[in-house]
Amino acid sequence: MTRTVRSLCPVCLKPIEGEYVLHGDDLYLDKTCPEHGATSTIVWRGTSPSYEDWGEGDMGNGPASFQTKRSSRCPYDCGICNEHTAPTCTILVEITERCNMGCPICFASATAQTGEHMSMATFASMLENIVAAGGPYPLQLSGGEPTVHPLLPEFIALAKDYGFKHVQVNTNGLRIAQQDGYLETLRDAGVDLIYLQCDGVSDETYRRIRGRDLAAIKRRVLERCQEAHVGVQLVPVLIRGVNDHELGDIVKLAKEFMPAVKGIHFQPCSYFGRYEIAPSNDNRITIPDVLRAMEEQTDGEVALRHFIPRKKHDTHCGFSAY
Ligand SMILES: [Zn+2]
Repeated sequence: MTRTVRSLCPVCLKPIEGEYVLHGDDLYLDKTCPEHGATSTIVWRGTSPSYEDWGEGDMGNGPASFQTKRSSRCPYDCGICNEHTAPTCTILVEITERCNMGCPICFASATAQTGEHMSMATFASMLENIVAAGGPYPLQLSGGEPTVHPLLPEFIALAKDYGFKHVQVNTNGLRIAQQDGYLETLRDAGVDLIYLQCDGVSDETYRRIRGRDLAAIKRRVLERCQEAHVGVQLVPVLIRGVNDHELGDIVKLAKEFMPAVKGIHFQPCSYFGRYEIAPSNDNRITIPDVLRAMEEQTDGEVALRHFIPRKKHDTHCGFSAY
């Protein structure tokens, strides 16, 4: 199969044409910038499931409102312009630039010492904008590390007052594990879900991805969520050859803490922010890699056939199972 797409040069970010090309059983996106030369990036490794069988998606009708007029086309008009086909799924608000960790792979480049906390007035005006743009939508409070913001409980309560039905906190879990009563404070403010960074079950994995031992911390967060009856979603960042051998153990960890654990949200590592080095194709993890590893590492308890493509948008960007 050959298909061309509008793509970007990874160096100068100018729009160039890309072509999906099979190299053996693996599908690559090949493109050539007149100035920066050719690149070839793996998109889909292997044929189980095959790229074609995974199906085409319903690209949707776009967001409820647009903030920018289309003039120069993507990526120049973003803001959001009317070329967007995906409706709004979740609104992510970065309430602080600070963090209590300094992960080598941080896509937000957050640090402990510098950076601003968002003010209550700014947050309130953002909530008003979201409501005016078709909201309220599911809301994720992020950063930085949102639990270092002294007003996080007040922000959660304010979002609930504005009618946001689902408010989740995207966190490394450090403060929840270490401070007695903090999770209960978030719960009482109205938080609906802890969206927990959880890359594996071994300290070795955390040392490689986060620069410190965290396995016991993550377990402590899960115990506290169980005790306080707060839902939690595990969010592993996957790097091929680093933590993909722990996919099955992550599923087992989730199962151990059900029903507090509501799901697992696997994400590939983003190579921007602090880790702005393009990965080799060997380090890039693709959807079939994840699906096959899960089946192998759970001895078939979670199997390939249990998963379906994400129906909305491009099916080759996500998968799900319930
Ligand atoms: Zn270029």
